[in-house]
Amino acid sequence: MAKIEEYAPLVGQSVIDDLRLLAERLKGKVVQHINSTSVGGGVAEILNRMVPLLRELGVDTCWDLIKGGSQFFDVTKKFHNVLHGRPEEITQRDFDIFMETSLLNIEEVNTHGDIVFVHDPQPIALVRKKQENKWIWRCHIDVSEPHQKVWGFLMEFISQYHAAVFSSPSFSRRLPVRQFLVAPSIDPLSDKNRELPLEVIDKVLEKYGIVRDKPIITQISRFDRLKDPVGVIEAFLQVKKYIDCQLILAGGTATDDPEGAKVYEEVMEKAKKDTDIHILLLPQNDIEVNALQRASDVIMQKSLKEGFGLTVSEALWKAKPVVASNVGGIPLQVTHKYSGLLCHSIDGAAFAIKQLLNSPAYAKKLGENGREHVRNNFLLTRHLKDYMLLFLSLYHQEDLVYL
Ligand code: UDP
Repeated sequence: MAKIEEYAPLVGQSVIDDLRLLAERLKGKVVQHINSTSVGGGVAEILNRMVPLLRELGVDTCWDLIKGGSQFFDVTKKFHNVLHGRPEEITQRDFDIFMETSLLNIEEVNTHGDIVFVHDPQPIALVRKKQENKWIWRCHIDVSEPHQKVWGFLMEFISQYHAAVFSSPSFSRRLPVRQFLVAPSIDPLSDKNRELPLEVIDKVLEKYGIVRDKPIITQISRFDRLKDPVGVIEAFLQVKKYIDCQLILAGGTATDDPEGAKVYEEVMEKAKKDTDIHILLLPQNDIEVNALQRASDVIMQKSLKEGFGLTVSEALWKAKPVVASNVGGIPLQVTHKYSGLLCHSIDGAAFAIKQLLNSPAYAKKLGENGREHVRNNFLLTRHLKDYMLLFLSLYHQEDLVYL
């Protein structure tokens, strides 16, 4: 695993020096991250890299998980969907199930950190254990149009935190606690994003029976309706009428996402007759994801709703042209016609893919611009700095000037 000094050639030595200075100021504090899964999805992706780097910098950091059964995760997935604005029925029983599991976790999870950093709604109720320590709630969801009842329920907990963190200005809500805007990030030196030798890429394609005889369009995502895998296939089918190409839809499932298997079946059903559509159920294997992204001519992220969409930065970092929906945190990453193409519909996605496949020089330029945009804004080093500044600010509240 890469050491902090290895990031200097990518981001500049002064960035690394700043991180060391900030970490020095946090000596003696324990930072405890808490979420609901160690595998799958963007939160786990980030913590897997951030925790070891904070430790290397000298910040005493740990990462704990809450526990829950299938009923609990069914409810939290429903909460996730309705907070993103998707209509679903929420009953009193859902709130009861949420609280039953939350009370068990309140009993069992030792919230010993000086700073307890809670990710997303699943562990939100742990704040009932607040004592002298500082509590941060980190929201990774686009809550710009949330389900009122669920948001109201969560507000009872959010208002007990010292601070709330959102990924994008458009997600922030009126809250009685301090808010911070911190965009997520990718790790340029992880297996998911580092340079790969061509042989490795070829081997992965061979493993999945994919031949590079025509352009490859790819979307990597959990099998989740909000990622619109069926819409991706429909856009691809429109493109294929004009340009001979192939589609890779690849994804695994997350342990806190019970819908994956069902959506995977729907996608298989939609794709079954077309041998140019490769539906891959990926094992948790970062090098394979990296290889598939690097082998692609166009990368899609046709989400209907999105928190941030790490896959977009992952693609841009590889200088790939991206077609992505104008939702959630995606427009932070893609400026239309500069660092990718934004779309609003299946037809729009198909049009954009055709444009990129027909104009390789334009596609290349968008990818290159995207890589620089990610270098300046969405690498892990920026994220580490933002978080350490946030931690320090919790102890210097009196220094803040409120506007
Ligand atoms: N991912 C993966 N394997 C998969 C599907 C997704 O490694 O089969 C990764 C993907 O590369 C990205 C993360 O999981 O790093 C998903 O984060 P994103 O913000 O795109 O979406 P989320 O799943 O958090 O909604």
